[in-house]
Amino acid sequence: MEDTVIKIPLLALRGINILPDMIIHFDVKRKKSVNALEEAMTNEQLIFLVAQKDASDEEPTIDNLYNIGTISKIKQLIKLPGNIIRVLVEGLERGEIQNFISEDPYIMTEVRKMDTENSSISEEQEEALLRITFESLEEYSKVNPGYSTETIKNMLAIRDIGKLADSIAANINVSLEDKQLILGEADPARRLELTISILKREIELSKIKKDIQLQVKQKIDKNQKEYYLREQLKVIQNELGDKYGLGEEIDKYIKQLKKLKAPKKVKDKIEKEIERIKKIPSGSSEGVVVRNYIECLLELPWNHKTKESTDIAKGEEILDRDHYGLKKVKERVLEHLAVRKLSSKTDSPIICLIGPPGTGKTSIAKSIANALNRNYVRISLGGIRDEAEIRGHRRTYIGAMPGRIVNGLKQAGSSNPLMLFDEIDKMSSDFRGDPSAALLEVLDSEQNNKFRDHYIELPVNLSDVLFIATANSVQTIPKPLLDRLELIPVTSYTANEKMHIARRHLIIKQLEKHGLKEGQLTISKNALRKIIDSYTKEAGVRNLERKIGEICRKAAKEVLVNNKSTIKITEQNLEKYLGIPVYTFDMIADKSQVGVVRGLAWTSVGGDTLSIEVNTMKGSGKFELTGQLGDVMKESAKAGISYIRSKTKELGIEEEFYKKVDIHIHIPEGAVPKDGPSAGITMATAMISALTNKPVKNDVAMTGEITLRGRVLPIGGLKEKLLAAKRAGIKKVLIPKDNTKNISEIEKEITRGLEVVYVSNMDEVIKEAVILDESRA
Ligand code: ADP
Repeated sequence: MEDTVIKIPLLALRGINILPDMIIHFDVKRKKSVNALEEAMTNEQLIFLVAQKDASDEEPTIDNLYNIGTISKIKQLIKLPGNIIRVLVEGLERGEIQNFISEDPYIMTEVRKMDTENSSISEEQEEALLRITFESLEEYSKVNPGYSTETIKNMLAIRDIGKLADSIAANINVSLEDKQLILGEADPARRLELTISILKREIELSKIKKDIQLQVKQKIDKNQKEYYLREQLKVIQNELGDKYGLGEEIDKYIKQLKKLKAPKKVKDKIEKEIERIKKIPSGSSEGVVVRNYIECLLELPWNHKTKESTDIAKGEEILDRDHYGLKKVKERVLEHLAVRKLSSKTDSPIICLIGPPGTGKTSIAKSIANALNRNYVRISLGGIRDEAEIRGHRRTYIGAMPGRIVNGLKQAGSSNPLMLFDEIDKMSSDFRGDPSAALLEVLDSEQNNKFRDHYIELPVNLSDVLFIATANSVQTIPKPLLDRLELIPVTSYTANEKMHIARRHLIIKQLEKHGLKEGQLTISKNALRKIIDSYTKEAGVRNLERKIGEICRKAAKEVLVNNKSTIKITEQNLEKYLGIPVYTFDMIADKSQVGVVRGLAWTSVGGDTLSIEVNTMKGSGKFELTGQLGDVMKESAKAGISYIRSKTKELGIEEEFYKKVDIHIHIPEGAVPKDGPSAGITMATAMISALTNKPVKNDVAMTGEITLRGRVLPIGGLKEKLLAAKRAGIKKVLIPKDNTKNISEIEKEITRGLEVVYVSNMDEVIKEAVILDESRA
C-alpha cells in the first residue's frame, strides 16, 4: 500500500464497524451499497467500510457517516433470494475520509491510510501494558462466566499491542461508539490504553450488574417464599375452619365473662376488649397483648370471697395447735382480730411481726389465715426496688405485667385473702420510684378500695384483704410505713422452747414429709439438746428443722435399704447422722484475768458473748481499736477513756496515763460485725482492769451503755443476751438498772441459775466485777 491516499468506493454499515484483521460477513440490500460492491469488484476488490452514526437511516448522507473506517478486502459475495447479497470481508487497515468524490450511484471517496507505526514507547512499557491487559482480560472472563475461554486464550497469545487492542475491541461486548473510538486511535500504545480503560469499565459494570441481580433475586425469593407460606396458612386455616382459631377463644372469653362475678365497670371493659380483639388479625403482637389483658381481668377474683370465720375461740385453738409458745404474739393477734370484728372501721393498723429469722413469723401468718378461713398468699418484698413491682407496668410497655399485689390476688383466688408482706424491711428505693410509697397506698384503708395497678387500669378493691407484714428489724422499715404498722415482737427461742417446738411440731412435720411413720424414728431428748446446742446457732428453729429433716432422710434410706423397722437417734449415734458438731461455745475462761472482760451482744441470729481484751504498754498515749467494730462502738470506747481520766484518783490510776501509756482494745471472734453502744461498760471495765492491773472475775458478764460521767444506760435484746450468757456458763450478769422492767417479761426459765445484778453507775460495775483485793484471785 504505497499510496497513502486512495480512491475507493464506500459502503455504509449499520450498527457495526470492522477493525483491521477482522473477518466478518454481512448482508447488503440497499441499492447504493450494491453499486459500491460492484464497483469494488471491478477494481482490486477493495472497499471502504464505514459505520453510520444512525443505524436506522435508510439513505445515509455523508454527514451521517463516521469519518474513520476500514479499508477492507471483499473475499466472497453470495447472492441470496430477494436481491440480498451476503458479503464476506476482511479488514485491512484504518482509513480516514479526505474527500467525497461522488455520491451517486455509490459513494466514492478519497481515503487516507492512517499511519499506525509511530508508537514511541519502550519495551518495558509495552510489556507492562500487555500484562495489565492480560490481567484485565482474565478478570473480565471471570465476571462474565459465559464468555468464551477460547477467544480469551487466542487474545492472550497476541503480543502486538495494536493488534491486541483491535482484537479485544472486536471480541468483547462494547458499544459501537467505543469500537469507533478504538478504530480512530492510530497510535498502538494509546489504543491499548484506551481499550484497557474500556475493559475496566466493563468489568466494573459487570460486577455492579451482578450485585443488583443478586439483590433482586433475593428479594424476589423472599417475597415468593412469604407469599407461598401465607397461601399455605390460608389453606390450613380454611381446612381447620375456626376450630382452633380466634372464634373458639372469643367464645371461651364470653362464657367466662358471663360467669364472672365482678363490678359492671370491669365487665364492660372486658366486653370492649373482646370486641377489640375481633378486629385485630390473629397472630399479631397487638392481639397477644389484648388477649393477655383479657385473660388477666377474667382471672382476677373481683367479687369472689371466702366466708370468713369470726370465731375468736376457734382461731385461738388453731393458733395453739400449730405453734408452741409465742403466747404474747398469739394474744396480740387475737386482740387485733377481735377489734377488727367489733369495729366496722377498717383503718386499724396492720400487724407486723418483728423478729429474727426462723421464729415462726411466716408460719403463724399462715395459721391466722387458716383460723379465719381466708386464703393465704405471701408476697416477698425482699430486694424490691422498683415501684412497678408493686403497681405493674403500663400496657404500652413491652412485656408489661400486673404488679405483685394484683398477682397475689390472682394467686389467692379470692378478694379477701390474708396477704403477707414478707421482709418489709428489705425493700429499697432507687431512681425507678419508691416501692414503699406504693405499698403505703395499698395499706391505707382510705385509698385501697380503689387501688390502681398500671397494667389493670381499673380500680381494684383491696379493702377486704387482711394484710400482715414481717420484718427482721425495725430500723430499716421505711418511716412512713412504720406509722401504719402495729409491731408485734417475736423473740428468739430458748433452748427449752426449741426442744418443745421440735418435739411437738418439727419432728412430726419432718417425719410426714419424708414418708416415715411415728415410731419408725425416735430422737432422744439428749440428742435433740445436742442438735440444738452443737449443730445449730440461731434465734429461730429453721436450721433445727433442717437438721431433723437431714436425720429423717438418712433414716428413710436405712428403713428401705437395711430393712430396719425402728431407728433410735441418741446422743451417742448422732454424729453418724449429722457429722461432727459444728459449733462449740465460747465457755467461761478457767480463771480471772487482767484486762479481759466478757460482754454480751445481740446479733441478728440471736445473742452472743464477746470477750473484750485490753493491753496497755508504755508509750505516748496512743489508742487503738481492732476487731470488727462499728463506729458507735469506737465512740463508746472513747467515752470510757474520758470517764477513766476524770476518775484517775479514785481508781488509783496514774493521772497522766493518757500521755504515757498506749491502750489497745481488741474484740476477738469478729466474724459477725458488732456495733451499738451496749459494750460501753465492758470496754471501760477492761481498760480499768488493765490500767490498775487488777483481774476481772471470769464468771461475770455485763452489758450497758456508758456516759462520760460513768452512768449506765439501758440496752436492748436482753432476752437473747441472757440466753447467750447462760449458754456460756456465766454465773452473774450485770445489767443496767433501767432494764429492770424488761426482766419481768422474760421467762423464769432463762434467769434460773443466773445472778442478775442491776447497776446504775461504773462504781457498782467495778465493785461487782473487778477483784480489788488480789489475795482473792
Ligand atoms: P420466719 O418467718 O420467722 O423466718 P418461719 O415461719 O419460716 O420463720 O419458721 C420456720 C419453721 O419453724 C417453720 O416450719 C415453722 O413452722 C417452724 N416454727 C417456728 N416457730 C414455731 C413454733 N413456735 N411452733 C411450731 N413451729 C414453729
